[in-house]
Amino acid sequence: MSTTRLAGHDGLGTSNPFLIEVAGESIASVRKQFLLPATYTLPIDSLVTGLYPNIDIYIGGACSTCWLMAALAEGLLAKVPQRVSLIVGVDPKIPPQIRTDMAHTFFLGECALATGGDLLELRNAMQLAGYDRFLGGCPPYEQSLVKLEDILIGMGYLKPEELVEKAAKHREDFFSYYQKYDPTWQPEYETPQH
Ligand code: SF4
Repeated sequence: MSTTRLAGHDGLGTSNPFLIEVAGESIASVRKQFLLPATYTLPIDSLVTGLYPNIDIYIGGACSTCWLMAALAEGLLAKVPQRVSLIVGVDPKIPPQIRTDMAHTFFLGECALATGGDLLELRNAMQLAGYDRFLGGCPPYEQSLVKLEDILIGMGYLKPEELVEKAAKHREDFFSYYQKYDPTWQPEYETPQH
């Protein structure tokens, strides 16, 4: 399934299972049930790679936290109306001609920033040209997402009001989560009035 999803992202036909015509025996007639190993975990790549048509993601050796942060960064980058590249982890393989300009190329995490070779050249060229699209940190936690939000606001792809709305929604969800178990529950602090 991952192969089909990634091929679809790169324009090699469709990855929508409803649009794929299966030749020969039907899948249902040849399907077999088997037990997964106790150590099996759902491949995290299905939450990160090939999901958004506008995002080219290049991941080298990366910890699970960088995979997770990449998924969160993609949630923001998906709002960009043109193609963007997201480079993550140790020594990810990038094509000789990356498909995005420097303004739309982002590095996530210290490993990507410290990688040598072609990536180092690209990173240095971006730095010299004044494109700080470097979302550092190990792991690249909240501070890197806040920086990404700032960059996207500066580029006109995100509005500050959207962030305020999102924060207010999270706050409501957080309250209702607790009030579901205890309707009398109230946060212990006062909301500042501006
Ligand atoms: S930057 Fe840190 S969290 Fe991310 S892949 Fe490297 S070691 Fe792991």
